[in-house]
Amino acid sequence: MEVRDLHKSFGDNEVLKGIDFHVNQGEVVCVIGPSGSGKSTLLRCVNRLEEPTSGIIRVEGVDITDPETDLDAVRTRIGMVFQQFNLFPHLNVLQNLTLAQRRAKKRGKAEAEQTAMKNLAKVGLADRAKAFPAQLSGGQQQRVAIARALSMDPDMMLFDEPTSALDPELVGDVLEVMRQLAEEGMTMMVVTHEMGFAREVGDRVVFMDGGVVVEQGNPADVLGSPQHERTRSFLSKVL
Ligand code: ATP
Ligand code: MG
Repeated sequence: MEVRDLHKSFGDNEVLKGIDFHVNQGEVVCVIGPSGSGKSTLLRCVNRLEEPTSGIIRVEGVDITDPETDLDAVRTRIGMVFQQFNLFPHLNVLQNLTLAQRRAKKRGKAEAEQTAMKNLAKVGLADRAKAFPAQLSGGQQQRVAIARALSMDPDMMLFDEPTSALDPELVGDVLEVMRQLAEEGMTMMVVTHEMGFAREVGDRVVFMDGGVVVEQGNPADVLGSPQHERTRSFLSKVL
């Protein structure tokens, strides 16, 4: 995935001011930065939940800002996990995982359920297939949301502060699932305040502030000896 000179404005508020950004296949890129710096907007542009004002976004060589591009096809290839889990409350876990597969991937019931169960097992929740979201903890709901995204067999996963809404004791299980995904070679872009995760699992850390990428590099360098004052100032508040 590659972003070139991406701009995004809401009215006259320019939120992304020329972002150049890439995630190589199999790479885990963690995006950090202060509130309002444009991290979510960048992520949302990548799977076209937001329309970029200008710039190019290529996913596996296909320019997804081209009006001819089939957005549904793009979105089935890019899994997204939000801070709020966004599960359907009236559907059980298994139904949550099969719905999009059946609609967007045109899978039959048996295949969709088989794929769902495989991914529930992966996140450690195979025994909760018949539960409803309200019967699960926040951490379990987030693992279901991850399993749901994985059930579409995405080429890449986007995470937007997936553990920020969780009680502290539930954060570890979700990060562990993400770590395991990373080890399996999933291409991942992760907006996070979990600096431990960024350091240990990230191949690269990107620091954003004010709608630009201020600095990026390997996690030990960016987190351990930042080159820019803005990065130092941010890290001094979160580390
Ligand atoms: P946080 O860490 O708080 O999640 P962020 O880095 O993800 O922050 P964004 O959510 O991308 O920041 O927001 C960047 C700026 O864009 C903010 O000033 C926000 O108010 C503005 N913004 C985001 N979405 C919209 C929208 N749909 N309409 C208008 N302004 C928006
Ligand atoms: Mg955000």
